[in-house]
Amino acid sequence: MQPETAKRFHIALLPGDGIGPEVIAEAVKVLRAVEARLDCIRFEFEEFSVGAGEYLRSGDPLPEATFERLRESGAILLGAMGLPEVRWPSGTEMAPQVKLRERLDLYCGVRPVYLYHSDHGPLKGYRAGEIDFVIVRESTEGLFFSRRQGYAPDAPEVRDTLRISRAGAERLFRAAFQMAASRRGLLTLIDKANVLPSMAYFRRIFDEVAVEFPAVRTERLYVDAAALYLVQNPRRFDVIVTENMFGDILSDLAAGLVGGMGMAPSADMGDRHAVFQPAHGSAPDLAGQGIANPTATILSAAMMLDWLPGAAAGAGLIRAAVQRFFATSEERTRDLGGRLKTAELGDRIGELLTSSDAVFLSLIH
Ligand code: ATP
Repeated sequence: MQPETAKRFHIALLPGDGIGPEVIAEAVKVLRAVEARLDCIRFEFEEFSVGAGEYLRSGDPLPEATFERLRESGAILLGAMGLPEVRWPSGTEMAPQVKLRERLDLYCGVRPVYLYHSDHGPLKGYRAGEIDFVIVRESTEGLFFSRRQGYAPDAPEVRDTLRISRAGAERLFRAAFQMAASRRGLLTLIDKANVLPSMAYFRRIFDEVAVEFPAVRTERLYVDAAALYLVQNPRRFDVIVTENMFGDILSDLAAGLVGGMGMAPSADMGDRHAVFQPAHGSAPDLAGQGIANPTATILSAAMMLDWLPGAAAGAGLIRAAVQRFFATSEERTRDLGGRLKTAELGDRIGELLTSSDAVFLSLIH
């Protein structure tokens, strides 16, 4: 195909704060390598300032004019937002990424958990690929529903509300069942239905939606037991679906099983829009040193290509290059015990992606 007939994708880049700009630069490098490899895909990147830095500049971490532009983008690739020292008067951190989820109605938080090398995780005896599951986290309600309510510092008590709506739960479960149907066919609901009425309601709706997907096996676990099983036997999981706060906590635990936050990609998806970002935050302890692991962001870019119609070949190339790198190289970034710099890892993955030997091609799926 000639470049003139290539598919063009407009990607909004939100590098954000802390290590965000450093890891986004490597994802862009790898996406440029995808372009070099595939004549049929072209990217137009447009960068926007959003986050704690933008708040310090303009007083608004997500200016309205920027939000309108983001709404028109083909897809949004985000680095990390927030800095511990930049806070709202209530004491909470700037989290425009959470606001984006709410305003773009990105109800489905998808967090793939995949072990790329046996040495990466703390568990013994797991080879590459033997931990391979996806957490689907509800992302617009749950316990996060209360986050904007504020509180009076002299109040005798403060309550947070865990909201579960029928419409919100049904659409989440349908997305999770579809994902399980396209993988190994097992969907695990994680809740606290034995204690909280909202969670009993959540489970009831899960059971109703399950009837629509007879080919998918289901199981139901309480969140405390699920935390135990995730550590004892992560192999048993395929797709997990859960409430917003439980998903927030368990996805960090799951990232720990496969090498930490630098190895944990994510996507927040709705019916029309999606934001792709590493599951980690701005990691101020690493910022400015060029030592963050960009793999999570590079894999988030691959998820973006899976989602954009007509770009899935690029996603396969990126994942194959990441797989090949960890299988064949002993170089690692600092979080995985090595000395490789952020930019060097981006270079290595970009170079592998543009190589075309048979072993590499066999990894593409
Ligand atoms: P948030 O609440 O914004 O998600 P957090 O407080 O959970 O952020 P992170 O910024 O995700 O914190 O960092 C958690 C830990 O993981 C820190 O020790 C940080 O250095 C490490 N970390 C995060 N991202 C990376 C990365 N890309 N590479 C290496 N280490 C990372």
